[in-house]
Amino acid sequence: MPNMCMTKLPMPEQDPKVRARNFEEVSYGYTEEMAIEEAQRCLNCKHMPCVSGCPVNVQIPKFISLIAQGKFADACSAIKETSALPAVCGRVCPQETQCEAKCVRGIKGEPVAIGRLERFAADWDMKNGKHEIEKPVSNGHKVAVIGAGPAGLTCAGDLAKKGYDVTIFEAFHKAGGVLVYGIPEFRLPKAIVQKEVEGLEKMGVKVMTNMVIGKVLSIDELVNDMGFEAVFVGSGAGLPMFMGIEGEDLVGVSSANEFLTRINLMKAYLDEYDTPIRKGKSVAVVGGGNVAMDAARSAMRLGAEHVYIIYRRSEAELPARKEEVHHAKEEGIEFVLQTNPVKILGDENGNVRAIECIKMELGEPDASGRRRPIPVEGSNYEIPVDTVIMSLGTSPNPLIRTTTKGLEANKHGCLIADENMATTREGVYAGGDAVTGAATVILAMGAGKTAAASIDEYIQNKK
Ligand code: FAD
Ligand code: SF4
Repeated sequence: MPNMCMTKLPMPEQDPKVRARNFEEVSYGYTEEMAIEEAQRCLNCKHMPCVSGCPVNVQIPKFISLIAQGKFADACSAIKETSALPAVCGRVCPQETQCEAKCVRGIKGEPVAIGRLERFAADWDMKNGKHEIEKPVSNGHKVAVIGAGPAGLTCAGDLAKKGYDVTIFEAFHKAGGVLVYGIPEFRLPKAIVQKEVEGLEKMGVKVMTNMVIGKVLSIDELVNDMGFEAVFVGSGAGLPMFMGIEGEDLVGVSSANEFLTRINLMKAYLDEYDTPIRKGKSVAVVGGGNVAMDAARSAMRLGAEHVYIIYRRSEAELPARKEEVHHAKEEGIEFVLQTNPVKILGDENGNVRAIECIKMELGEPDASGRRRPIPVEGSNYEIPVDTVIMSLGTSPNPLIRTTTKGLEANKHGCLIADENMATTREGVYAGGDAVTGAATVILAMGAGKTAAASIDEYIQNKK
């Protein structure tokens, strides 16, 4: 008999007052008993609507039914058939707009907690599973992967499984992409990403860090001098945007990317690291996406008394995951909605002292389908702050496309790739944020997977 409870079984979490001052993971995850209880809510639907909502086709009813039977290792193996990073996806995927949005249990009540169950299976396996990774037999072909984010890691993993000799070239000193430099420890512990990278290395993938392609080596050199037969570009979209308003050059203004990189990759939140970082007492974060929530919640954890999210539309349009908004509110982040900054004001020493904003009202929907924010004349006012963090989105860094002949990009600077992830240059494939602009982990992984299949076909047909 399925469990017909209308709501998801809650996942135990740290108390919001306590966690707002530490960087430990917010949620503890289900216990075995909890996972079985929640798994029993699944109806094992024959037509599997949930699977159609998953960009990498995880066989959801199969893995949930294995959890319900207490076969946790098998459940994780079932997820791994199509997803390379289950412990990551179980934590950060926007399930509410993907698999869970399609779950039939969501019609009258809450959907099955697919994400929480995925996280449970992956964590259980990491702790208890046997991890004997066999190095695949070499097929003698070399492929280069640029960027060690979810797109690059997935592409490298799939190619390595087929016997390719894969080298990942990563600009930073650590592999993981946004998973290590962007998403904070309290949402995604870095040890999890590290284990995934180690798994790839055991399969024979070489990870070369501090290698900025376009500076240290070019794609032409990789192909012409180093014998790589194909290249995958998964270099992400790490170039932050600013508003272009007065005062953005004041001391105390930074991009969310820089702020989060200092915290996550350079461990600025740990006393034993002397990474310079601005620990504001009153912080304005401009933007409403996941990155803005991460920056705001990190600023709170660094000791701020007030952290404001300043967003020009209403709560209904906030692009961040609902769970992140909920957690941010619980932790005391103040939402200043339908408000847009017009100027950042400084003191006599050039430090931020306030942000001047204007109120916005919402008009008719614009091209994005969201209601267009319109400034309300004469509604300007100041919010006293000492730190401003801009979280307005990012675009791909132009370095690779400007140093590679024949690699074309669109007007947003995103590399042009077809449905097989082939770029405009033969033998060069691309995917993830470098192609789509800032998107999601699961879409980047899906692109890495497609590219690996295309690269395999390209090299095998060339022989
Ligand atoms: P990235 O993860 O950006 O990885 C690209 C890698 O390429 C980086 O390591 C970079 O250093 C490297 N690189 C760049 N240029 C070069 C070069 N020239 N040479 C060598 N290496 C290079 N998505 C979700 O699904 N859920 C979330 O909750 C979520 N939260 C987010 C929070 C933050 C703070 C941020 C910034 C993003 C978040 N995202 C989230 C988005 C998600 O992380 C990205 O869509 C995803 O990481 C894209 O993967 P990628 O592999 O394409 O690029
Ligand atoms: Fe289970 Fe929901 Fe998928 Fe049906 S739609 S199989 S109930 S997770």
